Amino acid sequence: MSALELAQSLIKIKSISPKDGGCFELIEAELSPLGFQIERIPELNCETLLAKYGDSGKVFCYLGHTDVVPSGPEQEWTSHPFEANIIDGELIGRGAADMKGSVAVFIQSIKNFLADNPKPNFQIWVMLTSNEEGEPTDGKINTLIDSLSRQNQFIDYCLVGEASSSDMVGDVLRVGRRGSLSGKLKLIGKQGHVAYPHKVISPILEVGPIITELNQIIWDGGNEYFDPTSFQISNIESGTGATNVVPGHLNMLFNFRFSPESTQESLKERFIKILEKSKCTFKIDWTLNAQPYLTQKTEMLSIVQKALCKINGQEARIDNGGGTSDGRWVAPSGSEVIELGPRNQTIHQIDEKISLKDLVQLQEIYQQILVETNNHFSS
Ligand SMILES: [Zn+2]
Repeated sequence: MSALELAQSLIKIKSISPKDGGCFELIEAELSPLGFQIERIPELNCETLLAKYGDSGKVFCYLGHTDVVPSGPEQEWTSHPFEANIIDGELIGRGAADMKGSVAVFIQSIKNFLADNPKPNFQIWVMLTSNEEGEPTDGKINTLIDSLSRQNQFIDYCLVGEASSSDMVGDVLRVGRRGSLSGKLKLIGKQGHVAYPHKVISPILEVGPIITELNQIIWDGGNEYFDPTSFQISNIESGTGATNVVPGHLNMLFNFRFSPESTQESLKERFIKILEKSKCTFKIDWTLNAQPYLTQKTEMLSIVQKALCKINGQEARIDNGGGTSDGRWVAPSGSEVIELGPRNQTIHQIDEKISLKDLVQLQEIYQQILVETNNHFSS
């Protein structure tokens, strides 16, 4: 099957997280004849496919997913989200860019690469989950990654095929991402009559200077690859509804997007110190949504940049913005993780698409990365 046919066949499978819906069968049918050893590992309500080629040398792993987010109202699509039609040179469908197109062209890259280099001097893995987009309660790929590390199986280079690109394929890549720490604050004062200010403690008046300080504080300066940590308030609510009552408490929802220059502990500690200056007492429920990670190694990065120079005539810009990805589970063991994939303008939207030109270009980039990796280990 050609890369385009595979991308279309995958899109035609309505694989809403956490179920793969049969995508893995199609992928196995492509990889098995090439000599890949394939395992399917079930986890709660999802599944992981792990395909391995070669048994010695460093491990290069392509990490991706076959699940997609729901399409939204199908009638709003120019073309049915699960028909994979091509209109004006663009493949339209849920998952076209995030990330069935990427998976399909990576498999094509492997075929082309192995045809020229049947015995590469590194191992090639393809690791795909059926629940990247969905809820953690259905299972995530971290369970498999933990069990691999218990068996001393280490991924040296991890290429995450998520849609990182902006104006052209390969113009942006990611080597990390920010952390996310949320909190629910309950600021507790003393309720009373508005006419007796010495008998009340107003959480509303008390939160004023707290917010001013939270807004002005420099949490860290970020670094070469990350913006400084930012703090935002998403909701504040207080009051009894009466005009003559000072309320007894105030609720506030807030979030930190943090660079690796801060930790959840350091942010919590500084946040609490500010609250302690107030006359109110307080309770905070913290939720760590994600730890930040940054790949410090640059061996794979220089290989990828070299490949991009060959295909695009320029290196990619490094930008660690954007949402989450499964790269976060692989990075902590010390693997070098790079996210590089299609343009992300239409992901998760109505009329998600990828142009045929972009598919070809991404396939050439992935193939060149395999070639450069092989060159790197030969020299
Ligand atoms: Zn994705």
